[in-house]
Amino acid sequence: MRVVTSFQEARHGYEGSVGCVPTMGFLHEGHLSLIAAARADDQTVVVTLFVNPLQFGPGEDLERYPRDFDRDAALAEGAGTDILFAPSTEDMYPTEPASRVTVRGLADTLEGAHRPGHFEGVATVVTKLLAGLRPDRAYFGRKDAQQLSVVRRLVADLSFPAKIIGCPTVREPDGLALSSRNINLEERSRALGLSAGLRAAEAAIRQGEQRGPVLERVAREEAERRGLELQYASLVDADTIEPLEQVDRESFLAVAARVGKTRLIDNLYITVNAAGRVEPDFGHLLPGPSVLYDER
Ligand code: AMP
Repeated sequence: MRVVTSFQEARHGYEGSVGCVPTMGFLHEGHLSLIAAARADDQTVVVTLFVNPLQFGPGEDLERYPRDFDRDAALAEGAGTDILFAPSTEDMYPTEPASRVTVRGLADTLEGAHRPGHFEGVATVVTKLLAGLRPDRAYFGRKDAQQLSVVRRLVADLSFPAKIIGCPTVREPDGLALSSRNINLEERSRALGLSAGLRAAEAAIRQGEQRGPVLERVAREEAERRGLELQYASLVDADTIEPLEQVDRESFLAVAARVGKTRLIDNLYITVNAAGRVEPDFGHLLPGPSVLYDER
């Protein structure tokens, strides 16, 4: 594995098709599953490691965000990364970027409403990564389903040739979606309200429930039973992020909550198979503790 800090150095090491996995580091099995997907499809796997200040609002956890370069480099290499692109903030933004990418409409609701400017920061950095690294494919987690939708839209709107691949959510054995932020989590049992709410909604869908407002209520009530008040529970169209009355297309039930100082998001992703059947995808549970908690 080569560690590089410029786009040019990264492109210098390419052979064959290139798969890119953008991350903010403090890697866990969710990130590793994206790297594995890239490893399976592409000859050259580029992992990016950059905590993007543009996507954090004032008062958010930019300073508190976990960072450990040596740990990330070892995990990335172990997962089969060829090139680790790890720029400093100055490498990425030598001058304050005057050009920003705004994805209208679908970036304004849910996380966009709770974190003004967040998706502009995400869209701007993803645009830079796609323009600078020029991958054939880029891999994103369904864990951040609205982000995946925003990225798909910007790639279509701006004619980037990269194909965007969405990968299932990886979860801890108790259902909590893996997130680098889990290591700062103080009240884990309340945090489980998010995934428990989604599991309850998944069970309702499997029993034939299709009404958006009912599924939202099921998730909200199950979370409340576990002492967690959700900031939102919303079934939305995966293409437009518009609220859906019925689960009849690719969509997701998105939830968010504050647990102590940490804000967490999760979702139940829903696809429709070739036969027109609605398929909820809760993701995969790890068989044991995550590498997040490994002593180094
Ligand atoms: P992050 O480092 O949190 O910005 O995430 C980098 C990429 O990993 C994004 O595409 C995320 O959606 C994805 N990701 C984060 N957590 C998970 C997870 N639990 N399962 C699958 N993908 C994830």
